[in-house]
Amino acid sequence: MDNVNTVSVAVNDLTIQYNSLKVIDGLNLSIQRGEFLVLLGPSGCGKSTLLNSIAGLMDIMDGEIWISGRNVTWAQPKDRGIAMVFQSYALYPHMTVSENLSFGLRVSGLPKGEIKERVAEAARLLQIESLMNRKPSELSGGQRQRVAIGRALVRKVDVFLFDEPLSNLDAKLRNELRVELKKLHLALGNTMIYVTHDQVEAMTLADRIAVMKGGIIQQLGSPEEIYQYPSNQFVAGFIGSPI
Ligand code: ADP
Ligand code: MG
Repeated sequence: MDNVNTVSVAVNDLTIQYNSLKVIDGLNLSIQRGEFLVLLGPSGCGKSTLLNSIAGLMDIMDGEIWISGRNVTWAQPKDRGIAMVFQSYALYPHMTVSENLSFGLRVSGLPKGEIKERVAEAARLLQIESLMNRKPSELSGGQRQRVAIGRALVRKVDVFLFDEPLSNLDAKLRNELRVELKKLHLALGNTMIYVTHDQVEAMTLADRIAVMKGGIIQQLGSPEEIYQYPSNQFVAGFIGSPI
């Protein structure tokens, strides 16, 4: 049994089904505090469903979700201590970058000085200081995704959830932002759960990778372990292990 003080997110015996289709089937996963955990698998294997269930955006059939030592299975998304970044940027189009970053904090009633500090820090970390007065329509795709990541950062939560945040970007921007995300993780030390179908992203970002297929984790391990010792044919094929 893992030490509860070092566990950030625990998923216990989770089952989720759409109509009669079981999409997540009795899944268990324990993520350490400060860990960069990548959920990797082909389209339709249940990555987003699992991530959304951690975020509180799914009806679950059976099982429990624990975050930072609390059973949040029935908690609202805003009460889970998580922030999420989606593939589509979902910025508010009528607000400036600065307003996009501060909006959630203003709604939650945080003091103005604190909001200003957090927004400035996120802008600095993501190098978007020069864009603060622009509207989303005046930004490139990469810049928009930086703002979307910034909007999660200002929340100062323990756990960040990313659902294919780089999939809409071209290869060059994807590589750039991938490097930045890794730096950000080193600087912040938060727990990050990151969904992707891209093996290279998984191998370069993850402390551990959970390889999924058909709503089941096929293998959980470090990039090196999974690459060198794939536990089955599927994992070997998907990761591209030399077997
Ligand atoms: P991934 O993120 O790995 O691509 P998803 O979690 O989005 O996979 O989907 C897992 C499975 O659940 C797929 O078979 C998908 O078709 C199905 N699914 C997802 N959302 C719904 C929904 N709202 N209603 C019915 N089936 C769904
Ligand atoms: Mg998905």
